Amino acid sequence: MNVLTASLSDLVVERVGFGIFVLDRQMNVLMWNRFMQDHSGLAADQVVGKSIFASFPELPRVWLTRKLESVFQLGSFAFSSWEQRPYLFKFDHDRPITGGVDFMQQDCTFMPLMRDREVEAVCVTVSDVTHVSIVQREREEAVAKLQEYADRDGLTGIANRRYFEARLRDEYTRWQRYGGDLSILLFDLDHFKKINDQFGHVAGDFVLREMAQRVAGVVRAQDTFGRFGGEEFALLLPCTPLEDAMLVAEKIRNTIGDTPVDVQGVSVPVTASVGGASARTGVPAYEALINEADAALYTAKRQGRNRSIAFI
Ligand code: GH3
Ligand code: MG
Ligand code: MG
Repeated sequence: MNVLTASLSDLVVERVGFGIFVLDRQMNVLMWNRFMQDHSGLAADQVVGKSIFASFPELPRVWLTRKLESVFQLGSFAFSSWEQRPYLFKFDHDRPITGGVDFMQQDCTFMPLMRDREVEAVCVTVSDVTHVSIVQREREEAVAKLQEYADRDGLTGIANRRYFEARLRDEYTRWQRYGGDLSILLFDLDHFKKINDQFGHVAGDFVLREMAQRVAGVVRAQDTFGRFGGEEFALLLPCTPLEDAMLVAEKIRNTIGDTPVDVQGVSVPVTASVGGASARTGVPAYEALINEADAALYTAKRQGRNRSIAFI
């Protein structure tokens, strides 16, 4: 290397937009570039010649020693990504207030510097991946939110039919394997068409939301409450025998029927009919369970509405 290229490479090392430093086997610093200086606040002449841990006692000593030791012994590269370890050095990041990111997020590489087949030193690079990590985190949050929306009914915010059926399928499979109790309730608001006809669709929507909220307030956390369609709802009750499910059915019916809804200043009474069914041998699939609850619901309607009937 001639003098010109040697000084050029020095310049490059000084100017690159990531950290470069070199450690010997005793963890003493042999080289420290500008990026490391700018972000740590310690200049090369303060750091070089001393153990890295003397200048940065907060470094993860055991982890870093092990990492470097493996590079010295095997002579191969090692890496550390922000996803495993968000940062090595507690450097500030240059982003304005960012959710969840306290320090500059860092990807590090550990590169063996060989001389005569021996690893003489290890060169460590530190890249600022704060931006990438934030974008990635935001993406993960957005996906989680989308996932959540995909399972919810847009009008009422409770589970939608697709999600309800998926949960029912899971619980049904569990019941087939382990036995126990499993019940479902289907309920449908009575004469709902009249409410729509009298007060309009917007008022009807308001009533649907109000009823969903009331029922959501009385069901247990482990039960899945969903909107099955139109003004029809379903409740999945794991570990619940039919008898207990019908007590829940009455509770729901009362929650809906006891207090009329205030629609545009008019007090509107709302009632619901409920059908219940339980898994038992001879019910071939979860769809049959829905059909049985639906049949019971139909009986409740036929018998005059505002009542709950079990399928037997
Ligand atoms: P019953 O169940 O007691 O037999 O009578 P019903 O009048 O409730 O009967 P039906 O199930 O035939 O009618 C349901 C009505 O619910 C029809 C439809 O206009 C209304 N509906 C369905 N989905 C919605 C909705 O999302 N918003 C509103 N406002 N109305 C809806
Ligand atoms: Mg109805
Ligand atoms: Mg209906």
